[in-house]
Amino acid sequence: MDLDVVFLGTSGSVPTARRGLAGTLLRRGGERILVDCGEGTQRQLLRSTVGLVELHEVFLTHYHADHYLGLPGMLKTFALRGRNAPLTVYGPPGLVDLFGVLRRIFGKLTYDVELQELRPGEGVERSDYRIFAFSVEHGVTANGYCLVEDPRPGRFDLDRARKLGIPQGPLFGRLQAGESVALPQGGTISPEQVLGPPRPGRKIVLAGDTRPGREVLEAAREADLLVHEATFASEEQARADETLHSTGAAAAELARLAGVKMLALTHLSNRYFGPEIAREARAVFPRTVVPRDFDIIDIRFPERGGPRLVKGGALGRQKEADAHGSDGSAGGGEEPHGGGGDSDDPELRRDPVGARNGGRAPSETAG
Ligand SMILES: [Zn+2]
Ligand SMILES: [Zn+2]
Repeated sequence: MDLDVVFLGTSGSVPTARRGLAGTLLRRGGERILVDCGEGTQRQLLRSTVGLVELHEVFLTHYHADHYLGLPGMLKTFALRGRNAPLTVYGPPGLVDLFGVLRRIFGKLTYDVELQELRPGEGVERSDYRIFAFSVEHGVTANGYCLVEDPRPGRFDLDRARKLGIPQGPLFGRLQAGESVALPQGGTISPEQVLGPPRPGRKIVLAGDTRPGREVLEAAREADLLVHEATFASEEQARADETLHSTGAAAAELARLAGVKMLALTHLSNRYFGPEIAREARAVFPRTVVPRDFDIIDIRFPERGGPRLVKGGALGRQKEADAHGSDGSAGGGEEPHGGGGDSDDPELRRDPVGARNGGRAPSETAG
């Protein structure tokens, strides 16, 4: 089962020329789940290889404007396309009140929007995974979300299966699915005879906006991927404390304590371009990446290599060249990126995100 995370917007509070506002798409098999929908998210989807697909579920982390203002427009677009399928929006308490206001903007729709407020610990259960909310520390009612898959069957022991005289073919699959099977030559084999102990499923944690908090640490334990905000660099630690945001280094320390496989930092203040945040964070936790818009993190199973960043993975070749401009970095869409922390890292040599658009502006704290 494919599982990945598409970064549609990686800027905090205000967009930059290169980074859009919060929007992250989880793709699992054929499912598409959007987490946050900042202004411009529908266009980011249109520009990506994902397209503006008919989403059935949107999760909002909190109600700062940089996380939901894209939603009314996107809901309206769906209606203009004559959509019938219902859509569910999940968010922390306050969602119903928010939609009381938003409905005046998007008006009548051609489909039903169901609203479901989630308190910490609540979520949705699916046949083989669940998504639940956990509390974060951002000064307003806010959720982080954790997607966790059910444990997988243990590894299939091929040698043992052959020794037991099981013919290669469909019986293998049935055993792997947990079924006992009858052998053509007589006798029954139970799954435990050929399967190792169950293996954990994958876990993705999206913390949303927060200072590095205990609840995030608990939720993130042993996660394959923690997506954490890094609004500021350490030079602005005081501001991070004051506004209940995080620095890259503090998020990295949390990732280290939680034992995650990869940390992805997002929600950068427009004062930062990425490399400086990455450098600080990697000094603490080397497996840190700072995705740009349209990057993908492919959550492979540990035996297939674990999570990896695919730069520009959600861009077509032409679009990628367009988006990455003339900084010589275009064309590396499939470049694997382990997040090593040395100065040879291409991420650190790149043209800073948004650097061509007038340089640094004072960072914002709202959102
Ligand atoms: Zn924000
Ligand atoms: Zn916020």
